[in-house]
Amino acid sequence: MGIAENLKTIRKSIPGKVTLVAVSKTKPDEAIMEAYEAGHRDFGENKVQDLVAKQERLPDDIRWHMIGHLQSNKVKYLASFVHMLHGVDSLKLLEIINKEAEKYERVIDCLLQVRIAREETKFGLTEGDLKELLGSDAFREMKNVRIRGLMGMATYTENSEQIREEFRLLKRIFESLKATAFDKQDWFDQLSCGMSGDYDLAIEEGSNMVRIGSLIFGLRNY
Ligand SMILES: *Cc1c(COP(=O)(O)O)cnc(C)c1O
Repeated sequence: MGIAENLKTIRKSIPGKVTLVAVSKTKPDEAIMEAYEAGHRDFGENKVQDLVAKQERLPDDIRWHMIGHLQSNKVKYLASFVHMLHGVDSLKLLEIINKEAEKYERVIDCLLQVRIAREETKFGLTEGDLKELLGSDAFREMKNVRIRGLMGMATYTENSEQIREEFRLLKRIFESLKATAFDKQDWFDQLSCGMSGDYDLAIEEGSNMVRIGSLIFGLRNY
């Protein structure tokens, strides 16, 4: 099936309020343009260099999501245009994003990445880290970042019950922050979780932003 067709099928299977980020990493411009021509505007990349190169070549009204781990020395390349940063996992990184955004007189939307997977290898903040970050003076003084919500990645496993529990944990942390640190911030409303293999579970557990690559563009060969 073609890309436009795949998009249509996925779009039909998810609620309207769920944002679909088409993960175009490793895919050529033509593939992105096929989705674009079909009306799609939200695209995700996980490498700064690729994201910047594609942004320069492709239409201006694409909303670019940086979904991968972000190194602080690369924030400057994205700061003028990026739509959302999904993988923010430290106060230090947030401070740099704030500083770079200020140079362009922008406010950059960020998601804090939470470690929900039981696997050791995944990036992300623990619940304790989150409390510390959000409670810090340094965070309170930032004017050029806006925390829109949380992002998480489940363990890479066939065990859907485990995946479900991890998404549920993310949702619980999200709700708890919404009732405390973000109780007056209406914009704290985004929960980014779910990929090709588990997006249906994620939505059932409260996700309203899914990041889908292979189901739209086909398998990647690295
Ligand atoms: C690659 C990637 C995705 C999409 O993965 P698929 O399984 O192809 O849908 C989603 N989120 C992140 C952070 C990724 O790196």
